Amino acid sequence: MPVDLSRLPAVDRVLKSEAAAALIERHGRAPTTEAVRATLAELRTAKALADEEGVVSRAAARLTAEMAASQRPMFNLSGTVLHTNLGRALLAEAAIAAMTEVLGRPSNLEFDVADGARGERDDHVRGWLRRLTGAEDATVVNNNAAAVVLMLNTLALGKAVPVSRGELIEIGGAFRVPEIMARAGCRLIEVGTTNRTHLRDFEAAIGPETAMLMKVHPSNYAVVGFTSGVPEADLAALAHKHGLPFANDLGSGQLVDLERWGLPHEPTPREALAAGADLVSFSGDKLLGGPQCGIIVGRRDLIAKLNRNPLKRALRLDKGRLAALEATLRLYADPDRLAERLPTLRLLTRRESDIAAAAQRLRPQLAAALAGKAEVAVESCRSQIGSGALPVDLLPSHCLSLKTVGKKSGAAVERLAAAFRALPVPVIGRIEDDRLKFDLRCLEDEAGFVAQLAQLKIEGGT
Ligand SMILES: *Cc1c(COP(=O)(O)O)cnc(C)c1O
Repeated sequence: MPVDLSRLPAVDRVLKSEAAAALIERHGRAPTTEAVRATLAELRTAKALADEEGVVSRAAARLTAEMAASQRPMFNLSGTVLHTNLGRALLAEAAIAAMTEVLGRPSNLEFDVADGARGERDDHVRGWLRRLTGAEDATVVNNNAAAVVLMLNTLALGKAVPVSRGELIEIGGAFRVPEIMARAGCRLIEVGTTNRTHLRDFEAAIGPETAMLMKVHPSNYAVVGFTSGVPEADLAALAHKHGLPFANDLGSGQLVDLERWGLPHEPTPREALAAGADLVSFSGDKLLGGPQCGIIVGRRDLIAKLNRNPLKRALRLDKGRLAALEATLRLYADPDRLAERLPTLRLLTRRESDIAAAAQRLRPQLAAALAGKAEVAVESCRSQIGSGALPVDLLPSHCLSLKTVGKKSGAAVERLAAAFRALPVPVIGRIEDDRLKFDLRCLEDEAGFVAQLAQLKIEGGT
């Protein structure tokens, strides 16, 4: 028998019902009206009936989903500390506080309070960057990709830039050196071969059209075996011999030597400048542990040129991120307490025994929540720093390794991973050898992790 859709209540009648009043109170009249309309349209399409209350309850579910924040917190148990897809560096409390302080109120972003005159927004961080890198001057932009574009576009527009074939990298998210160069308006001259590039290759590539020399740090890969690159100092000397600037894109520029905490060495901007670079660029939200931004330090005259490029205005930082960056840099003044205060460094330097103890604590609770569905074991594993930093150096860590019960199948472990992603605070692990692995290096909120385990819903049989 056909459904009599004329029996569906009218929009107005639904909105006047007692049940709708609470929804209007919570979300407002316009969104509620829209949700009721959409719900009624959906019912008509499905040839289904509902009374006023039924329509309201469906509209409420629709509104809850619509009004929920799209970006929300997650548990990053992937084993990659600086995970680009999960937001990279976690800001230090001081940085979050500094950011919050200026966001809802006027600030002296570009105002010289003493003189009552116009100021420079970069002045809030310039002094700290000079102090921490030894550079003459510094400028900041939206991210390190923008920093590279700004350097190339300012110094080499319409000109040629020789780069080693071993450094024509892709960093993910469509940052490819050859394409960036083209968009910045320069001509890439490929030099040497993938595994070996010599000084004489660069020497031969330099001509009247050459505007600068550039080195790109191989952040997310390593060429091993029969390899040879040109030492930075030699490249710098060659550039200077021809009167050209030499830029070094470090990628993940850590400001202090990581060896201090037993971590592998990553070149610092200070070292890159000492080796002869005229400009050095690096990210703010990789190893530095600050907000997303790109930092360029180096020669005063060249920084002034970058600042005069109209692109600088298009790529500049907002007041919130400048405040967060300033506060992050201030933490570097006291390296003794840096590992406590800077979350990125705190996670990277977390003691293996500490992570192992967390794994032992959590294993029984996770096993209980997964009883009959999966077995849980503690295994040793290795975390990655991520975001292109130190690609071959892995940090010893411990994980909870979940193995589905019953017939072994890839689908079952995928379902398990989906169940953890469906939690109110999604838990992200990695799948390896048909197991779902949770590296506990980055788990600081154990209580929050355990509290939501009761809500796990694992679909289908395993
Ligand atoms: C990460 C990286 C970039 C891009 O930096 P973003 O801050 O992500 O824009 C550029 N160059 C190198 C060498 C990098 O490692």
